[in-house]
Amino acid sequence: TRTPVNVTVTGAAGQIGYALLFRIASGHLLGADVPVKLRLLEIPQGLKAAEGTAMELDDCAFPLLKGIDITDDPNVGFDGANVALLVGARPRTKGMERGDLLSANGGIFKPQGKAINDNAADDIKVLVVGNPANTNALIAQAAAPDVPAERFTAMTRLDHNRAISQLAAKTGAAVSDIQRLTIWGNHSATQYPDIFHATIAGKNAAEVVNDEKWLADDFIPTVAKRGAAIIEARGASSAASAANAAIDHVHTWVNGTAEGNWTSMGIPSDGSYGVPEGLISSFPVTTKDGRYEIVQGLDINEFSRARIDASVQELEEERAAVRELGLI
Ligand code: NDP
Repeated sequence: TRTPVNVTVTGAAGQIGYALLFRIASGHLLGADVPVKLRLLEIPQGLKAAEGTAMELDDCAFPLLKGIDITDDPNVGFDGANVALLVGARPRTKGMERGDLLSANGGIFKPQGKAINDNAADDIKVLVVGNPANTNALIAQAAAPDVPAERFTAMTRLDHNRAISQLAAKTGAAVSDIQRLTIWGNHSATQYPDIFHATIAGKNAAEVVNDEKWLADDFIPTVAKRGAAIIEARGASSAASAANAAIDHVHTWVNGTAEGNWTSMGIPSDGSYGVPEGLISSFPVTTKDGRYEIVQGLDINEFSRARIDASVQELEEERAAVRELGLI
């Protein structure tokens, strides 16, 4: 029998946490044959609700679930962690300036990064979901100098999945026929969903669509603003789809991309495609044996270049702001 994998989830009592934990415990995060131990990290006010969720997890009698611990101490929460899903974050509230938002999140992600550095397992993989995800990941990574930088990633898989779904709706294709879609840049309104290298049943997606106006005025803003549209319709932010994307991100990282396809992940830049080194930006990546690589050699046309640059500039501004605040 396999040793259980320790999976830590922060913000476990929140709505994404609620949609996430049951799928981790049922084997969707790592594989249907991989036992897991869950560590739920919450702030003190969230502990009681986390206990309630743990009771429900018990009541599912998941064969793969080998234990649940609940704590508000990051050192305990990340002790021996193999996978960490950083979901809990400080949301932007009315009248909050960017500096306030970044420093509030610095107060969360800096100590968590340090606790990961000091306590996690050597093979720790970190996914940051809590917004601003890319910059929160940068803060956590900077606080964890002993962990290889590439283990800190930010989620753009929901944007990736949303883009595939929109493209399928536009063209009538099956989602499973769409490959090689790319989200570039920041998980924010400036993100750029790129279909120029994507394929639909093997044909170039941009050529199949053949409608630059739809691309610029419909597709890109629909993908970028989908979160707001969900809030408008549902009266609450997207939770199940965000949790699903977190599952997809880690599952693909651990289990690999299919031959010929790729995915999108926010990862520390190595300077590829002109993205300044160290910024946590979304790229097209292939994964294999628990490691990822940026897809190299793609031609970036003018349409794409301008949009990638704009999103990367926003990431640079966020990095400058957290530097100024002493968070990195
Ligand atoms: P959610 O579970 O809905 O969201 C959590 C975070 O995920 C938010 O930062 C949210 O960003 C982000 N997120 C990323 N992508 C998406 C997406 N597509 N749709 C929606 N959200 C997305 O928040 P809740 O308020 O329900 O729960 C948060 C929990 O975290 C609470 O239980 C709180 O106690 C806990 N918490 C724990 C901390 C810790 O463990 N140290 C620290 C802070 C909070 P956005 O706000 O931009 O939507």
